[in-house]
Amino acid sequence: MLFKIPRLYDSHTHFLATGEFATGLMLFDLPSAEAIRYVELQGKTAFRGGWLVGFGWDENKWPDKRLPNKKQLDEIFPNYPVYLARADGHTAWVNSAALKELGLQSESGLLSEKDHLQSFDRIPPFEKAQQRQQILAACKLYNRAGFTHIRDMSCTDSLWNLLVGMEEANELTLAIEENYTVHELNQLDGAIASVLMARKTPSRLLRAKGIKFFYDGSLGSETALLSRPYNGEGDNVGKTLWSLEDAEEVFKLTWAAGLEVSVHTIGDEAAHQMVKLARKISAQGFVGRLNLEHAQVLRPETIQAMKPLHVRCHMQPCHWLSDRKWLQQKLRGLYSYAFPWEALKNAQIPISFGCDSPIEPSSFFANRQALEESPKDRIKRFTGDLAIYHGHPDATFTDSWTVIDGDRIQEVFFDGQILDLES
Ligand SMILES: [Zn+2]
Repeated sequence: MLFKIPRLYDSHTHFLATGEFATGLMLFDLPSAEAIRYVELQGKTAFRGGWLVGFGWDENKWPDKRLPNKKQLDEIFPNYPVYLARADGHTAWVNSAALKELGLQSESGLLSEKDHLQSFDRIPPFEKAQQRQQILAACKLYNRAGFTHIRDMSCTDSLWNLLVGMEEANELTLAIEENYTVHELNQLDGAIASVLMARKTPSRLLRAKGIKFFYDGSLGSETALLSRPYNGEGDNVGKTLWSLEDAEEVFKLTWAAGLEVSVHTIGDEAAHQMVKLARKISAQGFVGRLNLEHAQVLRPETIQAMKPLHVRCHMQPCHWLSDRKWLQQKLRGLYSYAFPWEALKNAQIPISFGCDSPIEPSSFFANRQALEESPKDRIKRFTGDLAIYHGHPDATFTDSWTVIDGDRIQEVFFDGQILDLES
């Protein structure tokens, strides 16, 4: 059966990282340490200022299950630094040339935790031409998945400027909303100035929206803030990354500048605290838009408290597919509040669906599958129209639509033309 969705929208993505993954050296399928000799580098953005950089190896997938060492890399890559991060992001496998550049000693050539993170920050950045290649790859990836509209959570000045240039050159095949992430309060003024500056560029396809911050962690690592302990025992309820005082500053200054606030809130207590904070600040006369990112667990009173606010929840049903195996165990009594898309819809709180790529692939079909299958696990069935909840809400934001035939994208029309999805 054919159906047509106007402005098919992935409402939570990390755009440039998606392009980096699509064009970078990915080692998830590396069958052994020695096989690094045969990886294909042609056409990839694997080099950063002379460093060969890769990601995704895991010795558990190798026949001997042994950790690799620097000698293996030195033999194959004697002349330039090589830096290969493990799939979990906590360890790097490097060669002697990299150790020399970093001024580090290591017999094994394995850097872990802090050594790894600090070293990674010192690798030269991608060149402009590589970033352009990543942007084009990301556009293609979203378009092939049917999307014409995305909301990016990880903008930078350099990305914005590149996108503006590409729009002028008619190279953009996506309508993009951009948000800047801040990790500390002292980054806020600079980020607000960047969004306001970006807003001065007249653009049809690019919209600078606001500021994002992470209020809590994730359910998988048991760091999302819950109102009850994880696994129904002990005292771990997760954590917050910001004080309420600092979060209040973000709301006030961002709203005063006329911009949107987006908050990563996965646990029920994180969402509740942010909604309460928005209510408090609204009562003081500050008005603005609040986006709750993920909103994977919401208590009924939190949903009620959203009603007078300008709030939108950005949910990723595909995360349910990945989390379903442990979700009931971790949440226990809070499970009945998990993935509350139907409760939000019934309370008439706006929702948009997305995928959080590159954490999960950008896929309308994965979201549709999650919405169909989750009622078997006692998640209330979503009765909303996917063409509305997966479409960008603003009908004036380009003339675009996607034709879906069963489980395949048949045609994507973007801003006046049918896109070529093959080449
Ligand atoms: Zn995200």
